Amino acid sequence: MKIIIIGAGAAGLAAACASDKNNEIILIDKNEKIGKKIYITGKGRCNITNNCSDETFFENIVTNPKFLTSSYKSFNCKSTIEFFENSGLKLKTERGNRVFPESDKSSDIIKIFSEKIAENNVKLHLGEKVTDIVFSNNTIKEIITDKQIIKIAPEDKVIIATGGKSYPQTGSTGDGYKFAIKAGHKIIPLKAALVAIILNYPKKYNTQGLSLKNVTVSLKNSDGKTIEKEFGEMLFTEDGISGPAVLSLSSKINKIDLKNHYVEIDLKPALSYEKLDMRLIREFDGNKNKNLKYVLYNLSPKALAPIIADNANIDENRKINEITKAERIKIINAIKGLKFQIKSLAPIDTGIITSGGIAVNEINPKTMESKIIKNLYFCGEIIDVDALTGGFNLQIALSTGFAAGRAASKTV
Ligand SMILES: Cc1cc2nc3c(=O)[nH]c(=O)nc-3n(C[C@H](O)[C@H](O)[C@H](O)COP(=O)(O)OP(=O)(O)OC[C@H]3O[C@@H](n4cnc5c(N)ncnc54)[C@H](O)[C@@H]3O)c2cc1C
Repeated sequence: MKIIIIGAGAAGLAAACASDKNNEIILIDKNEKIGKKIYITGKGRCNITNNCSDETFFENIVTNPKFLTSSYKSFNCKSTIEFFENSGLKLKTERGNRVFPESDKSSDIIKIFSEKIAENNVKLHLGEKVTDIVFSNNTIKEIITDKQIIKIAPEDKVIIATGGKSYPQTGSTGDGYKFAIKAGHKIIPLKAALVAIILNYPKKYNTQGLSLKNVTVSLKNSDGKTIEKEFGEMLFTEDGISGPAVLSLSSKINKIDLKNHYVEIDLKPALSYEKLDMRLIREFDGNKNKNLKYVLYNLSPKALAPIIADNANIDENRKINEITKAERIKIINAIKGLKFQIKSLAPIDTGIITSGGIAVNEINPKTMESKIIKNLYFCGEIIDVDALTGGFNLQIALSTGFAAGRAASKTV
């Protein structure tokens, strides 16, 4: 029996490691090297998994956590740690239980995969692109690549692990969705996830590169109701905002029509309105003849002063002794709720991950086998599952990849 795996990313590599070597295992990737995306993960350090409880793992899955129950149970975060450590790679756990190779080199993760697939006699077809899959009577007949036609016998298995549509320069250009649609699968609309938010604000603000810690970033609707919020670090980019809190927020709001919604940043979430008012009164008392912006510089980064003043609708050059109590309240509201109109999420190719993909109700969650086409399996980012940052997305690729490889190795 042949097991043909399309895509040598984390999911396809896991499937290749899990496949029984008594079969002919073929791993095809259009890149010249395996694991091109793994190489850039975790800023080149690869946050391979999270050293967390099962409960925490599922709390960090944004889309379709239930679908992952079975595959995760058979290959969980601890299994990932054991897999690499038993292969001789030392790992370390950092802030937020994020697990990295002790060497801080993602290439060491790829090296282990490389050794493991060699042990498993996997035949690597690199620099070979799958261009089409031929189906007939709910089975696969042929895999067509730019180099050859691979005939598929009734007992052979095919695993599609072609990833999502983010960072297409790593090879994930969304080809697998075309094959899945041809097979009769439904694709849940693709959305950028863990992505920056583009804002609609005047170019005059000089905030690019400004990073803020311990802030709350919220999505609010036109009634001012909070839809989602995240606490942590954020960063102003050339045309919007990014950074950990914003990336997490983006994954939670990417299925919402963002028209009529806005982003609100609480610059002082630890201070109540009353406490902030007391602070402001103190600042005002000591700086009566100075301009408003001077006091704002004492309360927030300089670049934010004109934005706070504009949000409060007060000229930043107004003298403090001219500012009324009502205006002071407006300033407090601006500091605790800096409002920005949203243009959109940044494009899908700039997202860390693609949300959406093959509908999970058409895949067997234990085996990753298609419920439509016999002997066809899916694993990794191509499936409609996604998670927050922290090593959870690679863990999804590994859990589903191992499940697919093991199941494909079984003869019925
Ligand atoms: C910048 C960045 C940083 C990240 N950091 C982390 C992190 O630290 N921790 C974490 O958990 N997650 C991280 N992620 C997410 C994580 O990398 C992905 O979730 C994961 O790699 C998905 O694995 P995959 O195997 O499903 O897909 P991919 O890794 O995208 O692999 C798909 C493979 O299929 C191949 N392919 C596609 N089409 C064809 C075709 N037609 N023929 C042949 N081959 C084909 C591609 O060349 C590619 O190699 C990061 C993502 C990015 C973009």
